[in-house]
Amino acid sequence: MDVLDCVGNTPLIELKNISRETSGVRIFAKAEFLNPSGSVKDRAARAMLLDGLESGRLTSGKRILDATSGNTGIAFAMFGAALGFGVTLYLPENCSEERKRMMKSFGAELMETSPLEGSDGAFLSARAAAEDTDTYFYPDQYNNIANPRAHYDTTGVEIWEQTDGVVTHFITGMGTSGTFMGTSKRLKEYNPGVQAVAVQPDSPFHGVEGVKHMDSTIHPGFYDPNAADAFEWISTEGAYAMTRRLAKEEGLFTGISSGGNALAALNLAKKLRSGSVVVTTLCDSGARYLSDAFWRV
Ligand code: PMP
Repeated sequence: MDVLDCVGNTPLIELKNISRETSGVRIFAKAEFLNPSGSVKDRAARAMLLDGLESGRLTSGKRILDATSGNTGIAFAMFGAALGFGVTLYLPENCSEERKRMMKSFGAELMETSPLEGSDGAFLSARAAAEDTDTYFYPDQYNNIANPRAHYDTTGVEIWEQTDGVVTHFITGMGTSGTFMGTSKRLKEYNPGVQAVAVQPDSPFHGVEGVKHMDSTIHPGFYDPNAADAFEWISTEGAYAMTRRLAKEEGLFTGISSGGNALAALNLAKKLRSGSVVVTTLCDSGARYLSDAFWRV
């Protein structure tokens, strides 16, 4: 067994206290922060690297290069260390110090881009550098179909099995949209009645790290807005408040996008009839944001 074998099969935790605000709707969350590098991105990173090895695009001596707001970079850095590949990561300079240190601890090289350009700036710089295909293997998480496929092959199957097939709604935020696209597709194949709901920040200038405001940013290649049956909009303040509630009321210490997901899941659940089963994801751990002002409470 190695670290690649430790990805997935995360627990499905019921948000029992928060769901009391609904009229008999159950809300569950996949504890993705329990993946080996601490986030949901282990699933996609693992799948993209294995695909690179199998297709012959990732060969010995090449460096793994990608753009990342943090979590995918940490996952690539970890797997790169385990598989013996160097890793180069482009990321916005304002990405949290904890994340940067984690990537460096695994031996990755960091290329910081302007915070004003957000994740698009990191993406464009990485894409330009990746033209040197002799030096770099560029997984391109925004356009690599192995990313959503990882969730189609694992997350969706796990949710179906862990709910004994009674899940009625899947709701999650979108960075690359890999989690949303892959998981929704699988769940709809099991039961076309499952509703796929996408979470969106209510403003282009938001603080829900790791999540994209789709209308104002470059769309990932595999993102299809029509895959969503509905959208739930959340504010940064709302996501912060729910992140604190998850810690204090559920004992779940998560990152901000998880708080945003739980808030959106609750708002959705309040509109649903008794017996509905809503599933969302807790994307990463609160430890990754400890130096952020909002934890100083
Ligand atoms: N939350 C966080 C904290 C993330 O880092 C990401 C990935 N950028 C997501 C949510 C969204 O995941 P995905 O890329 O699968 O849409």
